Amino acid sequence: REPGAAMEAGPAPGPDPDPDPGTGPAMDVGPEPVTGPVPVTDPATDPDVEPLHRGGFRCRLCQITAANRPSLLSHLAGKRHRRLRELRAERRAQELRSLFVSGFPRGTEPARLRQHFRAFGDVATVVMDKEKVGRGLRSSPGARGPLGYGLPQVEAQLALLVRALELSAAERRLRELLLALLREALAEFLPGCSLVPYGSSVNGFDVHGCDLDLPLELGGRDPPPEGTPAGDGDPQGQGTPSGAGDTP
Ligand SMILES: [Zn+2]
Repeated sequence: REPGAAMEAGPAPGPDPDPDPGTGPAMDVGPEPVTGPVPVTDPATDPDVEPLHRGGFRCRLCQITAANRPSLLSHLAGKRHRRLRELRAERRAQELRSLFVSGFPRGTEPARLRQHFRAFGDVATVVMDKEKVGRGLRSSPGARGPLGYGLPQVEAQLALLVRALELSAAERRLRELLLALLREALAEFLPGCSLVPYGSSVNGFDVHGCDLDLPLELGGRDPPPEGTPAGDGDPQGQGTPSGAGDTP
């Protein structure tokens, strides 16, 4: 996986577009204590308020219900509701200013990215991807992992794993033989049919003990057009997928 970084631009110049009109002052710089005027919202038009059939209201934002209008109003003016609205506005504003970049060399310093992208505007923060994938699989030289060979490189470990799991030439011949026998036997009863392997036996992901998928194509006649009943009851109209079970 390529390294990536999320970057957040600085506050936009001029008046910020308010992504959540009605929240009061635009929240674009970090968390702030809940102060300022109580936002005046009309519960009839507030998209966060859902009137309930059985009476009362539900605040979609806070996932709570209020039994009546006065308690709804007091909730809407309450600290919890206002804080959540502010957080939401803050996150939406962050979304508008954030950018994900990738494709730079592993080990690039955040300061270097910041410097480069400064050409397009202020860069407030750079958050680098944690390089979990590489770190998790690399073993220190001489370490004895589950495979016991002290391999320092991920690729070498993978090659070893493939050698341990892949089918031998004898196993492949056995599968080909099985396929030939099945084809011969089925041709007796279903002339014109064909067995076409698919899945792991074709795409190279087959391992010891994996199954052998063999759809059986009955062939011969075209299936009836969509919407028309099968009519004459001839079951040979369509191919029927069928898989052979696990084969050693
Ligand atoms: Zn609420």
